Amino acid sequence: MKVLNSPLFDALTREFGSVRVADEGAAMVAQHVRVPGGRTRLIVSSAGEYYRVNCFACNDTRYRLWINHRWGVTDAKTGSRHRWAAKCFNEDCLAREENRVELIRRTSWYDRTAGAGRVKILPGKVIDPGSPKPLPEDFVRLDALKKGHPARKYVKGRGFTPDHIAELWGVGYSEDGPFPSARLGRLVIPIHRVAADGTRVWGWQARKLNEHGRSPKYFTAPDLKKSTLLYGAERVHAGNGPVAVCEGPIDVWRFGKDAVALFGKDASEFQIRLLCRIADKRPLIVALDGEAEDEAEKLVTQLRHARETSLLRPDTSPVLLLSLPAGKDPADCTTEELERFMRRLLRDA
Ligand SMILES: [Zn+2]
Repeated sequence: MKVLNSPLFDALTREFGSVRVADEGAAMVAQHVRVPGGRTRLIVSSAGEYYRVNCFACNDTRYRLWINHRWGVTDAKTGSRHRWAAKCFNEDCLAREENRVELIRRTSWYDRTAGAGRVKILPGKVIDPGSPKPLPEDFVRLDALKKGHPARKYVKGRGFTPDHIAELWGVGYSEDGPFPSARLGRLVIPIHRVAADGTRVWGWQARKLNEHGRSPKYFTAPDLKKSTLLYGAERVHAGNGPVAVCEGPIDVWRFGKDAVALFGKDASEFQIRLLCRIADKRPLIVALDGEAEDEAEKLVTQLRHARETSLLRPDTSPVLLLSLPAGKDPADCTTEELERFMRRLLRDA
């Protein structure tokens, strides 16, 4: 195994015997920001690789002392040694100074090396969102199409008002695509990326307007990195209400706001982190399609684990499963029904 900080990994192995690695190979993603007063701070958006050992200060046997790969390494710009980046999730033992000192003592030979700036951190994988994919050239928003147009009819048939969907979600139509084997136009659903420097259209998904033929229901902009995006993230408003996680854009429309879609039943590691960030301190409600029971349970576990073990945003708010009957999607329900289901779930939690 090739860890990012092998001197630290070796020191921990020598001292603790057994070390587990979490988020293997993921580099820390962080930015240096000048704060008022002239100081520079490191703003961490994702901490990356961790080494896990049994905490020496409590009776931990579940590897609940997490030590980041940058722990002890001097940051050239801030001079900080990332000492914040270690935590005991059993009893928060490192909150006590004597335990912090003890951890430093136990890794002392590593610590001297790291502090002198001689520890080289291997470059890890950084999540690359790719480049934005423009909407098809002949894209027309639904509210600019004639009444009775097949794309408007499709949206209406799903129980939505076309003009409303155009306004809220920017949805439109394209005749020519670039769709595979395109003889018929498709509904084109823009996908936004929410980043520190603003929100912008990053790609699209195109849905066919009927259930006939063998062409796929959904077609995604070629080379779009779906696994780095969440549909609907731009309409999650600040607040403390629940945020729902579903499979597809139309499910998100049904919720109306404060819901995002994964573009499928599985979440990437990056999407899990995005979800934790977007729904910080708010209930998360997993609402996959009715038949995706196993995937939904897996996602609940992943989200709970991510919240519980996050050093940056430890979060005890609930992650709940909204199970729908087999054959039903959130899109098949009414908005009022979904709200009622969510209220009931939260009340019983
Ligand atoms: Zn402990």
